[in-house]
Amino acid sequence: MTSMNKMIDGKMYAGKLLEEIYPLSKQFLKNFNRKPCLSVILVGDNPASKIYIKNKIIAANNYGLQSNEILLTSDVSEEELIQQISMLNRDEKVDGILVQLPLPKHISEKKVIDVINPSKDVDGFHPTNIGKLFMGNPNFVPCTPLGCLYMLKHEIEDIKGKNAVIIGRSNIVGKPMASLLLSSDCTVTITHSRTKNIQEHTRKADILIVAVGIPAMIDETFIKPGAIVIDVGINRLEPKNKHNASNKNILIGDVHFEKVLNTAKKITPVPGGVGPMTIACLIHNTVKAAYINKKHDFINVLEGIL
Ligand code: NAP
Repeated sequence: MTSMNKMIDGKMYAGKLLEEIYPLSKQFLKNFNRKPCLSVILVGDNPASKIYIKNKIIAANNYGLQSNEILLTSDVSEEELIQQISMLNRDEKVDGILVQLPLPKHISEKKVIDVINPSKDVDGFHPTNIGKLFMGNPNFVPCTPLGCLYMLKHEIEDIKGKNAVIIGRSNIVGKPMASLLLSSDCTVTITHSRTKNIQEHTRKADILIVAVGIPAMIDETFIKPGAIVIDVGINRLEPKNKHNASNKNILIGDVHFEKVLNTAKKITPVPGGVGPMTIACLIHNTVKAAYINKKHDFINVLEGIL
């Protein structure tokens, strides 16, 4: 099998999901005389966050959404940010609210997420949405794990009973990913920085999800032959770095792609794997929020996934 055959093409899957959503966003405009609207708040000038926001807004505009970008300086107070979110909560023309993380240290992410109206929480981070997910009754599901699940359900004929191992236990990736896989009848193990002998767990994984934030940490010694590997990591490397011999900045994942390629059955690349799916799921969640906020049925384009 060539490396191309082993690649899980996140761009292709994202395109497929977006093409299914686009008619729904066009229909929303016809029904309600406005586009589904996503408001994005960026605090400060973190270069990676700026790129993520730019890509999200481009996709929103391309697929029939209106987007509003609210830029706040890094010295904005927690109270001012919360007031801004409360205004968006009240605005009937705003369907989805996204606060780009991380926030400056003086602002509590937890407090900020708690303020977002759960029915506009298109990132799926509000405790109400996380609770629903863990109760097996998902409403807005965090975009990155949702995108991973979408690819897995297309790549694996029958996911039931598979051993799934996740490296990383963050609230935005590892934990919701575990819940989604559990609901899909996988046997799920979550590992983290305090896990002893991590390879003992990962070598049993039919499905390995890696969300750590350490460039190329995972090599072939972590992989069960024939495993499906999903690399969530996005690491920006400067030129002439340990993993970057080139003269320009590059993006790499948490998985050493070349070393894992021979052992794994399928693997997502970075870039072009999980990243595009995260954006597609954000557009999906926003269109869904728009219909729900208008108390209108939303056609479930994720039938068989969620
Ligand atoms: P995070 O909040 O920093 O969590 C990292 C997790 O990795 C923690 O649970 C940590 O364990 C664990 N960890 C750290 N070092 C470890 C080690 N040596 N062995 C095992 N586990 C270890 O990160 P995150 O927000 O989940 O993001 C993870 C990566 O995914 C980052 O590269 C991020 O940029 C990327 N990401 C990508 C997307 C996308 O759209 N593709 C979206 C979100 C995040 P402890 O809990 O014990 O500290």
